[in-house]
Amino acid sequence: MKKKIGIYGFTGCAGDQLTIIHSEDKLLTFFDKAEIVSFSMAKSNNKECELDIAFIEGSITTEEQRKRIIEIRERTNILVPMGACACFGGIQSMKLGDGKYKERYEKVYGKKKITIDTTFESQPINAFVKVDFCIPGCPISARQFFSVFTKLINDFRPVLYSFPVCTECKWHENLCLLIEKNLPCLGPITRAGCGAICLDHSIPCVGCWGPVDEANVAYEFKLLIEQGFSPEAIIKKFRMFGGKVSQKLVKNLIGKYV
Ligand code: SF4
Ligand code: SF4
Repeated sequence: MKKKIGIYGFTGCAGDQLTIIHSEDKLLTFFDKAEIVSFSMAKSNNKECELDIAFIEGSITTEEQRKRIIEIRERTNILVPMGACACFGGIQSMKLGDGKYKERYEKVYGKKKITIDTTFESQPINAFVKVDFCIPGCPISARQFFSVFTKLINDFRPVLYSFPVCTECKWHENLCLLIEKNLPCLGPITRAGCGAICLDHSIPCVGCWGPVDEANVAYEFKLLIEQGFSPEAIIKKFRMFGGKVSQKLVKNLIGKYV
């Protein structure tokens, strides 16, 4: 029996759903090999039912979204956040935990209250429900998405890279921008999977694939300080795609240096 799949979008740019939709050469197989019961960006007759797998894009920023993700989790066997926003919070979570959400909110919207829903500091999916895997990227890579999809619909466990993007950079025999060019590259603390796209074009990594597990943030910080970057600039860089993870990691650094 075909697996029932749902694809949902919360707060984000919709780039991950678009990445799937733009994979024209794979779409016929995608819609044939599984029963895609819900995918608002691609079809209109969507159903709310029990799911084998749900792929979730975007972070959670409102009370309505919080209730919705809990409801999806309750009727889903395997729940997979996809993209930087769903996995780590994305750019909209870069100030997570600074305690100044209200201040920032009022800077944009003034004292006006949003009446359609209650908003709060943007957070990744795993802040509200249990997640089973995570497909990182900003946006995700189609290759990685269809690899995870194929494994899951055939009852195999997907294995994603658990090492930093520096490894992919070295596979491509690139000159190290951090060491050789003194550029602030976040490759050592960023998870692999993008194929070192930026590094292949001599552009330092800004960390859009999210922090790698067990990232040695303290050492990267020390290295960048020694190279003359200010603590404020480094922490800002760490936080851009670090979201919830970087919130914990930079806490000590902020206390010590800023
Ligand atoms: S350029 Fe960046 S990603 Fe490549 S090896 Fe150096 S630090 Fe790592
Ligand atoms: S090299 Fe870094 S910034 Fe560029 S796509 Fe890969 S993870 Fe993202």
